[in-house]
Amino acid sequence: MLYERSSRLFAEAEQVIPGGVNSPVRAFKAVGGTPIFIKEAKGAYLYDEDGNRLIDYINSWGPMILGHAYAPVVDAVIEKAKKGTSFGTPTALETEIAKLAVNMVPNIDKIRFVNSGTEACMSAIRLARGYTGREKIIKFAGCYHGHSDSFLIQAGSGAITFGTPNSPGVTQGTAKDTLLATYNDLDNVRALFEANPKEIAAIIIEPVAGNMGCVPPAEGFLQGLRNLCDANGTLLIFDEVMTGFRLAKGGVQELFGIKADIVAFGKVIGGGLPVGAFAARNEIMNYLAPVGPVYQAGTLSGNPLAMAAGFEMLKALDADAEIFIRLDAKTSYLETGIRNILEKKGIAFTINRVGSMISVHFDARPVTDFATAGYGNNDSFKKFFHGLLAEGVYIAPSAYETWFITDALTYDDLNFTLQAIEKVADTL
Ligand SMILES: *Cc1c(COP(=O)(O)O)cnc(C)c1O
Repeated sequence: MLYERSSRLFAEAEQVIPGGVNSPVRAFKAVGGTPIFIKEAKGAYLYDEDGNRLIDYINSWGPMILGHAYAPVVDAVIEKAKKGTSFGTPTALETEIAKLAVNMVPNIDKIRFVNSGTEACMSAIRLARGYTGREKIIKFAGCYHGHSDSFLIQAGSGAITFGTPNSPGVTQGTAKDTLLATYNDLDNVRALFEANPKEIAAIIIEPVAGNMGCVPPAEGFLQGLRNLCDANGTLLIFDEVMTGFRLAKGGVQELFGIKADIVAFGKVIGGGLPVGAFAARNEIMNYLAPVGPVYQAGTLSGNPLAMAAGFEMLKALDADAEIFIRLDAKTSYLETGIRNILEKKGIAFTINRVGSMISVHFDARPVTDFATAGYGNNDSFKKFFHGLLAEGVYIAPSAYETWFITDALTYDDLNFTLQAIEKVADTL
């Protein structure tokens, strides 16, 4: 494949945008080479500036769960845009999407819309701190909760890949209130509670982690966190920016039957437009301004275009009783195919998967947390990434990222992908 135009566009971009990109992972630093510039996309495919077609396993990092340029979303956005793109006043559509979200997700009474997953998580911990009157939070190494200061402590994917787990610019004062725990290690969390009695406002977690590859919670881990939170007057925040409306209608709360106190959303909830949200029961949400004392706001929050896109997306997922079954079946087919190929070729690997989130690690040892996720960050992965790209298959350009399967993928696409993997496996 030729990437002449992409390379030229990247060189041009580097002149005026830091690193040529508006979000670091796009720069291909973890795998080398220059990023592909995409011109358009439809269904399961991306089309780049050089005219190459790529089967997309990133899907805008999750939102395009029903495929690119999904017609109901596109049409709704166009119709809305003709009527004005922002008013700075409440609109009826905000209530519509809020009602639907509250219906789809367990244990929430109210939801507040923001513009990104970062904002959602940032606001969720502020709310938790305001509600509990405590300052410290527990986060897990390798979990990413957006780029706000409190969370840039061993923050997963982008942050790890670029070698700045603790970003300059985050103050010691902020960092000291973030306690770091090991994913899937309940004893470690218990010890943090013992060392900081009555000081911990919240535990925030990706209840299925997706920013160190896909790392499922071990049996009993989430329930253990729930119990520790209950025993210590601490709130449990599920960051479902990635998993929400992807693993089940009601996210991980529904999938594993664990109640969170606050839930953060992003990605799928915006249908490809910039949307985040956080939600909780009334007693917690009523702490938010203008009802309560915890301040949070946004000029473009609840923006009509974003709400139109999100509403169509949620409606489509809500109306399709089979969607999550279908996604699981497709991803399972892919998983089985990859396993068979890699086993046949004698390549050491681990595959982690929950529903339509899957990651391939080129190391035989189990991947259960941030440290073990590092095993697969090796040359085999880089070769695998570039080999697949040359075959027209686009996976995430980092060993710490999850693949996001879209329903637009056909079994022909999956077979094409497996044939590409078969070829590339010979080069590993
Ligand atoms: C992507 C992501 C975020 C950040 O969302 P942005 O919209 O990129 O700000 C937060 N948490 C998780 C789990 C994510 O995957």
